[in-house]
Amino acid sequence: MDCLFCKIIEGKIPSTKVYEDQKILAFYDIQKLAKIHILFIHKKHCSNINAMMEEDISKVSEIFIAITKYTKQHGLEEKGFRIVTNTGPDAGQTIFHTHFHLLAGGPLGALGAFRK
Ligand code: 5GP
Ligand code: ZN
Repeated sequence: MDCLFCKIIEGKIPSTKVYEDQKILAFYDIQKLAKIHILFIHKKHCSNINAMMEEDISKVSEIFIAITKYTKQHGLEEKGFRIVTNTGPDAGQTIFHTHFHLLAGGPLGALGAFRK
């Protein structure tokens, strides 16, 4: 399987890691959309959020436990943050290894571009 994020997990492609435990890896997005832009992934490959929910719902909570730890440890709980997961073509998903974008570090603007 040719998956870029699996290669990052295996260390075949470099990344700047900010969090790691037995099951979860988090690293800076290469093309940041906010002052802080981190991607949280499960180390076991799964293509999107719906597949992950169907395969093993505990993987979703394991990712969110890591996100919660990170946001608490880095003072983002008080300042605020946004979690996004893109699924399928309308959302513009480009990497088919489920990932959650953590966006933070300053005002993010309103969600609502779709209203235009
Ligand atoms: P998607 O569009 O699938 O929700 O998000 C994929 C994200 O992966 C994008 O924000 C993109 O910038 C990021 N990305 C793509 N290739 C790499 C890479 O090689 N390294 C890192 N750290 N991020 C990447
Ligand atoms: Zn993968």
